Amino acid sequence: MNILTQNFNTPYHTPPFENIKNEDYLPAFKELISESEKEIDAIVNNSEEPTFKNTIEALAYSGEKLDVVSNIFFNLNSAETSDELQQIAQEVSPLLTEYSSKISQNEALFNRIKKVYDEKSKYNLNEEQQMLLDETYKGFVRSGALLNDSDKEKLKQINMDLSVKSLQFGQNALAANNAYFKHITNKEDLAGIPDAILEQYAEEAKERNLDGYVVTLQYPSYVPFMTYADNRELRKELALANGKKSFDGGEFDNQNLIKKIISLKQQKAELLGYKNYADYVLEERMAKSPIKVIEFLNELLTKAKPYAQKEIEELKALAKADGIEDMQGYDHSFYAEKLRKAKYDFNDEELKPYFPLNQVQDAVFGLANQLFGLEFKEVNTIQKYHSDVQTYEVYEIQEPRTENQVFDSAQTDNQQPTTDNRQLKAILYTDYFPRKGKRAGAWMTSYKNQFTKDGENSRPHISIVCNFSKPTKDTPSLLTFQEVTTLFHEFGHAIHGMLANTQYPNLSGTSVKWDFVELPSQFLENFCYEPEFLKTFAKHYKTGEVLPNDKIEKIEQSKNFMEGYQTLRQLGFGLLDMAYHTHPKDVNDIKAFEDAQTSKTSLYPVNPETAMSPTFSHIFQGGYSAGYYSYKWAEVLDADAFAYFKETGIFNPETAAKYKVLLSSGGTKDPMELYKNFRGSEPKVESLLKRAFG
Ligand SMILES: [Zn+2]
Repeated sequence: MNILTQNFNTPYHTPPFENIKNEDYLPAFKELISESEKEIDAIVNNSEEPTFKNTIEALAYSGEKLDVVSNIFFNLNSAETSDELQQIAQEVSPLLTEYSSKISQNEALFNRIKKVYDEKSKYNLNEEQQMLLDETYKGFVRSGALLNDSDKEKLKQINMDLSVKSLQFGQNALAANNAYFKHITNKEDLAGIPDAILEQYAEEAKERNLDGYVVTLQYPSYVPFMTYADNRELRKELALANGKKSFDGGEFDNQNLIKKIISLKQQKAELLGYKNYADYVLEERMAKSPIKVIEFLNELLTKAKPYAQKEIEELKALAKADGIEDMQGYDHSFYAEKLRKAKYDFNDEELKPYFPLNQVQDAVFGLANQLFGLEFKEVNTIQKYHSDVQTYEVYEIQEPRTENQVFDSAQTDNQQPTTDNRQLKAILYTDYFPRKGKRAGAWMTSYKNQFTKDGENSRPHISIVCNFSKPTKDTPSLLTFQEVTTLFHEFGHAIHGMLANTQYPNLSGTSVKWDFVELPSQFLENFCYEPEFLKTFAKHYKTGEVLPNDKIEKIEQSKNFMEGYQTLRQLGFGLLDMAYHTHPKDVNDIKAFEDAQTSKTSLYPVNPETAMSPTFSHIFQGGYSAGYYSYKWAEVLDADAFAYFKETGIFNPETAAKYKVLLSSGGTKDPMELYKNFRGSEPKVESLLKRAFG
């Protein structure tokens, strides 16, 4: 008997981590894939006419057990992997790809879906059901279900070409990045570089059997060099090398690949009936259309540019004092760091004692309690995959029913909530410390989505995984301020998952439009900069001293340091991305195209020998095509949402209640509608400008 294919005989049917053996996975996947395929066959072969219930809903609920096992496996492959798990992943991934493409290319299934879709008026569907129907139908159509056989074949070919070319683009960018290194033997050339970085450069040299130091174009090597190196000529040399990557006509040049990639994307869009690739992508986003995105970026550009120019003037004055009259891009980080140091210098070590992990976690738990009525109870009855993991039952305190309020208040006044008015809302796993089998970074994930089936609301199992500073024998885990904001960020995603209250698993929790998903996480980070809240938990772990006001001020100020410059940089990337995906036919010369698009956002002279497009992996390799704008978009959303809290009081219960509706609705409604219902208006760029520039 395979434990993974059975019903889990555990509290809340949580994964039986302690009893799963690696050799259980592959057979479980095979069995559950074939079980899920039978569920699909049953939908297709149903002798009854297709209906919403027997087709759309049945499809939404299919593959439940397979999802659970996939979640367990892939979550562990990120948080607690091993050679063996990685080996299994190699075998499992193609099986899952084959399974999902069998579904998306199943014509008989699509015919049933289309029939329901075409006759949708006769079903009297509620809003969520309509959303499910539309999303299901669109999902098939966007993969080519409406095309004739020869066009289907064309689309398949385009998709294959695209994946090969994108991969090649990424490989070239990586190879170009790795091909360059700068060997430095004279230590004087490294004046200004901190000792820890020097050590790193010396080690890099040693690995290459060289004496002295080696600087590379890898971020952890390149960025400190540009930030700290006093030697201007060397900064110039490094910046030039960096800007020429995949743009020098050499073996890793990406210019032709860019043209091929954008042309393939255009062909795909046209085949599927769209004007361009941006139209195709944005149809499935909160922003909805390229015009909306371009207007958004340009509005932000017009308003942020004066602030950016002011920042650059300040830097230029610093450079001038050093005798530099023609400040260049390669001087930026160097003088920005000088200015930062003069203005707001604080180091992590000074702040860390005020942020022991347990206090910070209590603070987020308390915040979730105050805003959304959640209560966290640590339990030891739920199985863990590692001893560092902690498990919680999360309860929601039920609001008293209004009609009974007058009657009840006479008897229950001042009584503490009892278990009677608490309801289990979620299971939460936290896993905070780095170890060998855990990948870098921080993320929120789930072992099980929330959904409602046969009248039962099945609650979600949510997990937060981080790589925070570990406790030692004498010191508890003390967080840097950045780690504090990371915990709030991931916890914001977790709240989104825990509050989920929808019917269908694929519209639940964080299953929302791509440019909407970072709202809950970034929103919560705002609280880290609120002095009144910060003071409730930022207390020295030894003395209990509250974080002093001058340190709080520095935290606030340094947050917005060079915000104007950063904003223009992001806007430049965003506009360039939109241009490639709305006007692919205008791309003849990569450099000319890029320069034309970024002329309004460039704050330093453009170097004719360099270009960034050939290493713009976000859009030519990764999934950010026509999506780069979403970084700034999400910032406007979270700034505007938080501005509403600030207007009404950051703990205002009515505001929190409205926001809770947005969070619990998941993807069941159009995100702009959800947002307007919460805020009363569309998000405003001004909220971000006010937060960033005062
Ligand atoms: Zn996030």
